[in-house]
Amino acid sequence: MNKKQVLLAASIMALLSVAPLQAGGRGQAHQLPERPDSSTVQEALTSEEAASLIFMREEEKLARDAYSTLYDQWKNPVFSTISRSEQRHMNAMAMKLDTYGLDDPVVDDAAGTFNNSDLANLYADLMTKGNASLLDALHVGALIEEVDILDLQKAIAASTHPDLIQSYENLMRGSRNHLRAFVGQIESQGVPYEAQLMEQMEVDMILDEPLERGRAKRRGPRS
Ligand code: ZN
Ligand code: ZN
Repeated sequence: MNKKQVLLAASIMALLSVAPLQAGGRGQAHQLPERPDSSTVQEALTSEEAASLIFMREEEKLARDAYSTLYDQWKNPVFSTISRSEQRHMNAMAMKLDTYGLDDPVVDDAAGTFNNSDLANLYADLMTKGNASLLDALHVGALIEEVDILDLQKAIAASTHPDLIQSYENLMRGSRNHLRAFVGQIESQGVPYEAQLMEQMEVDMILDEPLERGRAKRRGPRS
């Protein structure tokens, strides 16, 4: 090989070793690698990822609607504060649906209206329970946060899209704070909190940590 051929071979080698990474490993090595930037078109979600995202959008709505309804009934500000946070979580999921070109399941924003019948049934059950007493309503809040954390853990485990995982991590950090807030209210009434769906140990670990602020940080092994 002359000098020119060697250089060409070297640059092809470099291209082959770099391009698959930048192209997401989809074997597009024959194309020139594109400069990755925020305007890069997102790779489509798998059907499982899409289903999780659509579900999470409505699950955040369930939380928002439940807390605004429970606030109207009990006037405890913990519900109105967290309901506003759930609206932000809903917005974050709407942005992701838009990013990935998926239809929004929330076609009617009215409280208690759901496309997913499981969520509609859960909402009805929880509102019946939360109607009984403030202590029950606070337990409903803590239960919703446990459900949210478990579903977010599943969604994160099933996703390979870093931006989506980051968004779920942000929601989960919010959920941990919300769980701390509801449990704080329950225990201020002299009632020790018992985990309702999650492992007690995992709940205790969350409760032992202080309120989290800022960007999501991974801490400890996730089960
Ligand atoms: Zn949330
Ligand atoms: Zn929450």
